[in-house]
Formats: sequence, C-alpha cells, structure tokens
Amino acid sequence: MQIGNIGVVGAGTMGNGIAQVFAVAGHSVVLTDVAQSQLDRALKTVSGSLDRLVKKEKMTAEAKDAALGRIQTSTDLGALGGADLVVEAATENLTLKLEIFRKLDAAAKAGAIIASNTSSISITKLAAATQRPAHVIGMHFFNPVPVMQLVELIRGLQTSDETYAAVEAVSKAVGKAPVEVRNSPGFVVNRMLCPMINEAIFTLGEGLASAQAIDDAMRLGCNHPIGPLALCDLIGLDVQLAVMQVLFEGFKDPKYRPAPLLVEMVEAGYLGRKTGRGFYTYE
Ligand code: NAD
Repeated sequence: MQIGNIGVVGAGTMGNGIAQVFAVAGHSVVLTDVAQSQLDRALKTVSGSLDRLVKKEKMTAEAKDAALGRIQTSTDLGALGGADLVVEAATENLTLKLEIFRKLDAAAKAGAIIASNTSSISITKLAAATQRPAHVIGMHFFNPVPVMQLVELIRGLQTSDETYAAVEAVSKAVGKAPVEVRNSPGFVVNRMLCPMINEAIFTLGEGLASAQAIDDAMRLGCNHPIGPLALCDLIGLDVQLAVMQVLFEGFKDPKYRPAPLLVEMVEAGYLGRKTGRGFYTYE
C-alpha cells in the first residue's frame, strides 16, 4: 500500500497541524470541515506557522509557498475521493465520529485507509461502522502537531497488518516517531499521564502541599518540564476529567476515579488557561 494523497477531516487545532505536516513532507492534502470559517482560519494558522520556520531559516519562502499550494480545502467530504489515507480529526464526540466514518466509507475510494485522531474513542467501534474495518486505524498525534514527535498508532481488533505497515511507513516518512498500541481506553500516553495529573489534584485537595509546591516538586524532583497542575491548566480541566471518565468507565477500576476537586472545579467553570482560571489564574 502506497500512501500519496491525504485527506483530513476537521480543520481545528489538530486538523490544521496534521495538514501542515503532510503538506510540508510533499503530500497533496485535501482539508475538509463543516465550517468554511474554520478552513479559512486553518490556512492562516498553517501560513503563520510556516512563516515562523522561514524566519528561523528552517524553510525557504519557496518551500513555504509550495507546501501551502499543496493544501486544498472543501466543506464537502466528497472531495476526499482521491485520498489514499484520510485522517479524521473532528470534534471528540462518538455519535458525530460514527456518522463521519459512515460517510467517509462511502466517499473514500476502495482500498483507502481511514484513520482517527481520537483521544479516547474506541478504534474498534469506529472500524465497525464501516465496510472496510481492516483499513481503519488510530493515528493519535500530539499538540502542537508540527512540533511533537510522537504519533500513537492504534490497532483496532480488525486493523490489518498491511494497514498498520502503510501508516507506520508514512508516519516515519513525514518525520514522526510512531509507537504501536493496541486499542484500549486512553491508549498509552493518556493512560499514564492523566492518572499522574489526577493524583496531583488529590494531593492538592488533601492539603498535602500548595499547587506551586506540587508543581515545583515534580519539575525539580523528576525533571518534568512543567508541573502536573500547570499542565492540567494547559490541557483543560474538562478534557482531563473526560479522559479520567473514559479510563474509569473503560476499566471499572476505582484507581481511575476522578479527584473530587477536579470534578468541582469543572462544575465551577474553572477549566484552566482557556477560561483564565484553573489551578492558577491567567491574565
Ligand atoms: P477542535 O475543536 O479544535 O476542531 C474540531 C473541528 O472539527 C472543528 O473545526 C469543527 O468545525 C470540525 N467538525 C465538527 N464536525 C465536523 C464534521 N461533521 N465534519 C467535518 N468537520 C467537523 O478540536 P481538536 O482539538 O482539533 O480535536 C480534534 C480531534 O483530535 C479530537 O478527536 C480530539 O480528541 C483529538 N485530539 C486533540 C488533541 C488536543 O490537544 N487538542 C490532542 C490529541 C488528539
């Protein structure tokens, strides 16, 4: 299986980064979204991101123009008929993604691979919504996509070895470092990272130490670049809670129960940086 043309569904935070990475590596990309405004914004974001690379002399102005020229946009999933690989990066919602997968199955050509960038939804379940379950896989990129090296490649129960091999090869070719993961709640990174953050919130809630002391301890004692509570503010407390709920419900293991303080802060609307208040306050 050779992957040339790429389709991306959803032009938000992740979708525009995914489009940029493939376009810079020389692939033709069709980026789709239900909202034209999101497509316009995505092209501006990619252009701005490439401008910074040109300024740092990591890319020539000609290469920037060529990469941008390789990205076409559309509000119609039908425009993805020429793609060898479609990466779905639409809003995290099971009903919505199942609907998109059914439509993509009809729009994409026979043999095309359909991948999802979902953080928590079962790849096996998404694959089962299509007539091509062996050609469905998870491609879990990290934010910001052009900067972060890792992509978790998630095998659903039905994913074929050929599909895995093709997606692994193209991931490496565009400069990413893939790791192979079986479909399971939270995959690998969120399975470990989110419980660590959750434990930091328990520690804070129990009054063991202040937020600053907890973050300093993990930064200086474990060499983490950012403390767990500051990181939670960056991720969003609502997102952190959603992942803990997926782990808790998926494994039915009390060790994944969300910290009560996290639940209460989300109820209060203290979602972190995006609302100006989380474990810290922001201007
Ligand atoms: P976002 O809200 O920034 O973007 C989602 C986009 O999907 C929006 O532009 C929206 O208009 C579009 N959309 C909604 N319904 C659609 C439809 N039916 N067809 C086409 N487009 C549609 O979200 P995001 O942060 O980019 O997340 C996208 C996916 O990536 C989610 O599954 C999320 O779990 C996953 N993810 C996010 C991060 C992160 O840090 N933000 C990291 C890894 C994975």
